[in-house]
Amino acid sequence: MPDERQVIAPRHATVGEGSVERYLPAAPHRMIGPWCFLDLFGRLPGPSTGVGPHPHIGIQTVTWLFNGASTHRDSVGSDVTILPGGLSLMTAGAGIAHAEEPPPGEGRGPFGAQLWIALPDDARDASPAYGLFSDLPVGADPGATLVVFAGQVMGLQAPRRFSSPIVGAEIRIRENRGTELELEPEFEHGVLLATGSGELDGLRLHAGDFVRLGRGERSIRLSATESTRWMLVGGVPFAEDILMWWNFVARDQDEIAAARDDWVAGRRFGTVARSSYAPIPAPDLPSAHLKARPSSAGDST
Ligand code: MN
Repeated sequence: MPDERQVIAPRHATVGEGSVERYLPAAPHRMIGPWCFLDLFGRLPGPSTGVGPHPHIGIQTVTWLFNGASTHRDSVGSDVTILPGGLSLMTAGAGIAHAEEPPPGEGRGPFGAQLWIALPDDARDASPAYGLFSDLPVGADPGATLVVFAGQVMGLQAPRRFSSPIVGAEIRIRENRGTELELEPEFEHGVLLATGSGELDGLRLHAGDFVRLGRGERSIRLSATESTRWMLVGGVPFAEDILMWWNFVARDQDEIAAARDDWVAGRRFGTVARSSYAPIPAPDLPSAHLKARPSSAGDST
């Protein structure tokens, strides 16, 4: 029997000048497979959530847009415009810095999700890298469209390789239609309803609702009472204990402190050219020992 399904309410966090809905980390399960962070930005009214240069270690980030555009710049020299339907995949590994902002004329900025993938121990010291990929498999039936950006869904295999078993996809369902998705029972999953309203196996959901599914689930049926866009993420439960603080994912407090020191001193992370925002200063480390719990993630960006 699978674990009970859990509806996760987002916390409201500030990124840039705007407000985001933060679904991960969440209690009591901090992660879903290797996915350790999930923000939805631009859904609620408010100013742009663009952010100036800031560092990351120990993760890959996925930026996935539903609407609008976002300029991504980083310390490995990328300067690209992210658009809906493309996978923005940044490998922080041992250390990268990046900035995100709406392109000129884009108004208050895009609507989309940013997610972090914790890298396993044998991959987390990788060299930083960035890629923007539009060669994603798309499947369609009369009521639904499926775009797979990580792993495999319904026989559609995303082309990028990841460091642990994983899935990530967007599903669009037209009004009064539905679709059945097969799930990998060894995975735990999260299903986010980004826009519209509908049902997950009869559970009524509204835009901004997120449901966690434990291992052992073999399929779900998603349906739309009005046109919907969903995001599916999942993976094998992450086997290592991670420590998250600010924008760093590590294994112990010394690694976090060293990364913070390097950002403050201008080492390790390189520089982000052409950002219109100032670099983000590191917050103070708490004097108490960091604990592996959601609140220690602080004001992650
Ligand atoms: Mn970031």
